Amino acid sequence: MPDSSQPRESVQVTQSFMPPVEDYMGYVRDIFATRHLTNHGKYEQKLQRELAAYLRVPALELYSNGTLGLQLAIRLLGLNGKTVITTPFTYVATVSALLWEGCRVLLADIDSRSLCIDPMAVRRRIESEPDVAGILPVHVYGNACDVEAIGEIAAHYKVKCFYDAAHAIGSFLDGQSLFAFGDAAVGSFHATKLFHTIEGGCIAAPPERMRKLRLLGAFGHCGDSHECLGINAKLSEFHAAMGLCVLPHLPKIIGRRAAIGAIYDSLLDTRKGLRRPVLHPGLKWNHAYYPVIFPDNAALMHVMAVLTAKNIHPRRYFYPALSRLPYLPGQSCPIAEDIAERVLCLPLWAEMPDDLAEQIAALVNKAM
Ligand SMILES: *Cc1c(COP(=O)(O)O)cnc(C)c1O
Repeated sequence: MPDSSQPRESVQVTQSFMPPVEDYMGYVRDIFATRHLTNHGKYEQKLQRELAAYLRVPALELYSNGTLGLQLAIRLLGLNGKTVITTPFTYVATVSALLWEGCRVLLADIDSRSLCIDPMAVRRRIESEPDVAGILPVHVYGNACDVEAIGEIAAHYKVKCFYDAAHAIGSFLDGQSLFAFGDAAVGSFHATKLFHTIEGGCIAAPPERMRKLRLLGAFGHCGDSHECLGINAKLSEFHAAMGLCVLPHLPKIIGRRAAIGAIYDSLLDTRKGLRRPVLHPGLKWNHAYYPVIFPDNAALMHVMAVLTAKNIHPRRYFYPALSRLPYLPGQSCPIAEDIAERVLCLPLWAEMPDDLAEQIAALVNKAM
């Protein structure tokens, strides 16, 4: 074991997976030769097919990032300018995409066990606000939302439901990927995510929606025929190539993360009041993050200080709860606000050495 009193290279919450550079260079050489750099080139189309197969969805469209994916999904479903319910416990992009599209954002609190939006809270919100037009739940940390209850609510109240599945690639519920639920599901392929294209994103939706999704992200026109208002959200060939290089490694990436997670699981001392989010029954989880819930904020801050002193930098995903955003009118969500004060994601990436996870677990136990 390395001497832990020595200063070390800084340990961040994650590291981007890098495929063999020669794999990537093969694509780069071909892109240089063909000069086909973007505009739905062959690598973008190949990645689209391979991802749809991996995610077991009939169709998806690729975009330059997940935030634009959220914005285009809002447009696709006609929710821009409408009232949409979402969760306060997510990355800020979930809410900012809604606000950017002129939506009125209503927050519904989370379930304290799954950390995903609480269907009962969604139902209460809809009952008290007659103009709700959509729901945007988030599969937090790759855990599955209560898709059954949320699906029933959406059908009963005739509102659209689309999922922020930014964390969800590689999670399967009874054999279905989480991208198969709702009117649409949006993925993020940012460098810090489990699967990445450096920057990138997607929307999975029924095949009959694909033409509209292509138009929305490519200026709304096809040749000289201008069909609808669009923007530019295209994924370049260089980004698609990175995705093609990373995708074959995904099962191995998830397997290694599961092994690191198992080390944390076995070593972290739960007698000190640490707990973990409860996964949806039947979920084959992707191990996108390693969140730990402390008994209180003081314990979290102390553990953070101990780890930071060793140049280890866990992240407070997600802090603060978005009910505290300065640009969202106050809506109290006590459960999310409480969890956000005491949840921390420990370092986790595919090539993380086992002994580093062992050291971090020991430091956390000692600090508790
Ligand atoms: C990363 C993330 C996004 C945004 O995706 P980008 O590709 O970075 O734009 C949206 N929602 C959640 C929950 C995320 O974690």
